[in-house]
Amino acid sequence: MDAPTRTATKVATVKLLIGGEFVESKTTEWRDVVNPATQEVLARVPFATPAEVDAAVASAQQAFKTWKKTPIGARARIFLKLQQLIREHMGELAAILTAEQGKTLPDAEGDVFRGLEVVEHAAGIGNLQLGELANNVAGGVDTYTLLQPLGVCAGITPFNFPAMIPLWMFPMAIATGNTFVLKPSEQDPMVTMRLAELALEAGVPPGVLNVVHGGEQVVNAICDHKDIKAISFVGSTKVGTHVYNRASLAGKRVQCMMGAKNHAIVMPDANKEQTLNALAGAAFGAAGQRCMAVSVAVLVGEARSWIPDLVAKAKTLKVSAGTEKGTDVGPLVSCAARDRVTGLIERGVADGATLELDGRNPEVPGYEKGNFVGPTVFSGVKPGMAIYDQEIFGPVLCLAGAETLDEAIDLINSNPNGNGTAIFTQSGAAARKFQEEIDVGQVGINVPIPVPVPLFSFSGSRASKLGDLGPYGKQVILFYTQTKTVTARWFDDSTTSHGVNTTISLK
Ligand code: NAD
Repeated sequence: MDAPTRTATKVATVKLLIGGEFVESKTTEWRDVVNPATQEVLARVPFATPAEVDAAVASAQQAFKTWKKTPIGARARIFLKLQQLIREHMGELAAILTAEQGKTLPDAEGDVFRGLEVVEHAAGIGNLQLGELANNVAGGVDTYTLLQPLGVCAGITPFNFPAMIPLWMFPMAIATGNTFVLKPSEQDPMVTMRLAELALEAGVPPGVLNVVHGGEQVVNAICDHKDIKAISFVGSTKVGTHVYNRASLAGKRVQCMMGAKNHAIVMPDANKEQTLNALAGAAFGAAGQRCMAVSVAVLVGEARSWIPDLVAKAKTLKVSAGTEKGTDVGPLVSCAARDRVTGLIERGVADGATLELDGRNPEVPGYEKGNFVGPTVFSGVKPGMAIYDQEIFGPVLCLAGAETLDEAIDLINSNPNGNGTAIFTQSGAAARKFQEEIDVGQVGINVPIPVPVPLFSFSGSRASKLGDLGPYGKQVILFYTQTKTVTARWFDDSTTSHGVNTTISLK
């Protein structure tokens, strides 16, 4: 993570949200929020002080006393209103997101939309937070469960989906009756703050949603805070593992969605044009900065001859600012991210992979200062090469080959990550074998980026995830609630007494 910078420039400041008020931080540490296509400084984001983190948690703790008792219908109506407000402000939200993050305007709308789906889901909380009841488990005894909110929960989010991922978190946490402290990415916090404003406008009461900004110290303060009950983290494996260990030791419930290396298998019977389009979109869209991006394609048998077609497809993509019409690949989020990606491309060459298409230093008229890397394709990629072993998080597609489907499945199952994978084929038998044998949590069949809709949960696995339950969907209801099981018997004056029962049995 970059260190905070101290800019003297007079630019807008990103506020903290504490107790229903958008307040200026008293910190001395600030970092610039930079447009990655132009290097224009859009705003300065504070690294909140320990006292500010404490104040945010205290306000959430206070608000929990009443929010937890708020009727389901009242909670649901806030999210009905929020989904309406997000729809009304879609263009504005996408424009803020593109300016600070770089992805294209249509993709920024997609980022907001995938979060909006979770808001819509939160509006159905009445059906989601139902307990269970078993009648007459013993004579006159009923057992039922209550799914009760935990208290103050927190979310820590990455830069790559600054609308969708905060919306994975606070709507479901709040809809289930918790209060929330959100720590957005310091690289692009502005669209998240606009969503927080809309949440307040929709009726989220003061203190129920709080936002603090910062980096390592703020994250550590959240992990250690005695009044925070649960933390949802999305980001890199290194930071997620640290958050998981630190917060678990502090007694919290934690879920961490982390880094990835997503493989797509291409069978020779796949529909060629559809597959090439899908691979190019999934590898190079969002400049490869998606945790579910396809970063390795395993070409099986005759499909190994498709490399020139894939390279030709990659060459058709337009690299430019996300605001320019027709752009397919925008800039990487920061100069540091660009340098890291170009450094890994150098490592790929040094490690002996074949550089089929080199996207370094593309010409982007009008945006000469932008952090651009164009679509890049390597063939002959193998485990042990840095471009295979590391998450590149840039528009770089690695091609590997396999003789058979079994060999391709073995390669994927030997990789430690388990976020997403896909197969392209017209064979139901091959697809079903893949679905059964692949050890990855999210599987696409002729779908390159199989991110589940919120009727289901995000279910990455193995090194891509820590914690048992995923964000949104059914699993997150269990994550944000404590199951209380009540076993109840009622006596009235006419009930016959059976005397003292000294056994464990319910009689
Ligand atoms: P990151 O880990 O650098 O940052 C994530 C969050 O952690 C940010 O809020 C950041 O401020 C904080 N942070 C950074 N360094 C820290 C430190 N040393 N100690 C404590 N907190 C720290 O991740 P990123 O670069 O913002 O996002 C990209 C990564 O996120 C990729 O690895 C990507 O695969 C992953 N990601 C995973 C998913 C998923 O669902 N599995 C989704 C999106 C992104």
